[in-house]
Amino acid sequence: MARAKKSAIIAVANQKGGVAKTTSVASIGAAMAEAGKRVLLVDLDPQASLTFSLGIDPDVVEVSIHEVLLGQAEVTEAILEASEGVDLLPSTIDLASAEAQLLTRPGREFVLQSVLEEVRSDYDVILLDCSPSLGVLTLAALTAATGLIIPMQAEMLSHRGVGQLLDTVRDVKKLLNKKLKTIGILPTMYDGRSNHAREVLDDLGGRYKLPVLSPPIPRTVRFAEAPAAGRSILDTARSSKGASAYREVTERILEAI
Ligand code: ADP
Ligand code: MG
Repeated sequence: MARAKKSAIIAVANQKGGVAKTTSVASIGAAMAEAGKRVLLVDLDPQASLTFSLGIDPDVVEVSIHEVLLGQAEVTEAILEASEGVDLLPSTIDLASAEAQLLTRPGREFVLQSVLEEVRSDYDVILLDCSPSLGVLTLAALTAATGLIIPMQAEMLSHRGVGQLLDTVRDVKKLLNKKLKTIGILPTMYDGRSNHAREVLDDLGGRYKLPVLSPPIPRTVRFAEAPAAGRSILDTARSSKGASAYREVTERILEAI
């Protein structure tokens, strides 16, 4: 019976760049695969950092999510087997123009949902790596998702804009996707030695009235190095404290979905 269950679709979103969305998708995806889950990662950012970090050169990708969203290719034609036992729906720079092309289409918010419906029974979990904007692609991700994780750098300045994201989530729930559940805020790049970071962390849940996933992901140089190597993060940093934090957080997420 369990195999017939539809996959959870988790959007990892925050319109601020550099808060570890992509790192979190790659790391949580790899940890879920380690736990025996069938995982699909979806790169929704024209910068294609997720695609690149999984060792795939976006410039040589022939069929990407761009063609799939515009109805020019089947989703199964675009999905690749990536490292770490996960599948990837890759992005390329072409995706930058999809946003504009989708703008004039009726039902554009549902375009990703209907694409993923075709492969949903093949996976236990589908993770969506959103771009740093609240544009059409992020709205489509929130509309397709059953769960939302909001990575947030554990320092004050990065919290501007979270209110706007939460307003958007509220509207999406009301108008487009009643099933969307906010799994929690994921504190990233956490420096436990800093009093300031600790205070911000203690304050987070109460301020936004949302669950805060635990443990926070520590700031480590191993993460900063991984994407440059063009390899997935858990792979390069398998035994680092960052990787073990992601494994623990992944257990919490699997309990929550
Ligand atoms: P986003 O997708 O939100 O823009 P990324 O995942 O690309 O963020 O991360 C931004 C940068 O921060 C990258 O260079 C990444 O390697 C680095 N980074 C991510 N997580 C950590 C961490 N825990 N410690 C140190 N550097 C990190
Ligand atoms: Mg990113």
